Amino acid sequence: MIESRLKSFPTNNKDREALIRKWFAESGCSGLSEQSLERKLPPNVICILPGNTPKGEAEQIIVVGAHTDHVDDFGDGVVDNWSGAALLPSLLYSLSGQPRRHTFVFVGFSAEEKRLLGSKYYAEHLTTEERARIDGMVNFDSLGLGPTEVWASHADKVLLDPLAAVAAESRLPVSVMNVENLGTADSESFAPYHIPRVTLHSLTQETWPILHSPRDKLAAIKMDDYYDSYRLIAEYLAYLDSVLKPAPAAKVDNAAH
Ligand SMILES: [Zn+2]
Repeated sequence: MIESRLKSFPTNNKDREALIRKWFAESGCSGLSEQSLERKLPPNVICILPGNTPKGEAEQIIVVGAHTDHVDDFGDGVVDNWSGAALLPSLLYSLSGQPRRHTFVFVGFSAEEKRLLGSKYYAEHLTTEERARIDGMVNFDSLGLGPTEVWASHADKVLLDPLAAVAAESRLPVSVMNVENLGTADSESFAPYHIPRVTLHSLTQETWPILHSPRDKLAAIKMDDYYDSYRLIAEYLAYLDSVLKPAPAAKVDNAAH
């Protein structure tokens, strides 16, 4: 499934969004919606997988994202970022089979290649109350060029520590590769709101030039590494559900008012 979904990439951004939406539905997503952007762009596609919030506690959320669009001019955009987007329905399916406390919100972001437009729109249009309930945002972009890498310098410790724990436990590789001198990613749209965020990728100094070039094709993907990234992310999300706790609420002295 992981490989066949990767191989069935559409080249047009509208078709990409539509196929992710179709796969979400086929993977059992009941809370499926689209968020229209204020331009002639494909929408963000959103699938909500509800969790079992213990009685008396507020619902806590983990956002899982990957952009569905690619640059039109060069290559097929299989690495950047069909490799990430195509995993969203499979991750939804794997998480839906196990009990969970968090509500997982899967988002296929539109227009990442247009200055993160889709993810910025999504983060901007959350209410303050919704933002406060998001314990973490996990993004993946350009997987499969090699072993999993993490943009650690623009990620939060509350998400990095569990990633290291899962990698050690599962013996799946992950190493630090910071990319702020090379580009950006949708996770950065959440940073201004102090939502913990992390981006997983597979880029190195050597493979970076493949993006936005005619070499961004299926042939660039190393399937074993890609599958390892999928397994790592699936285990990581399940683990985050158990370890991420709401930040202690700021004490409000009601008596003073
Ligand atoms: Zn990308």
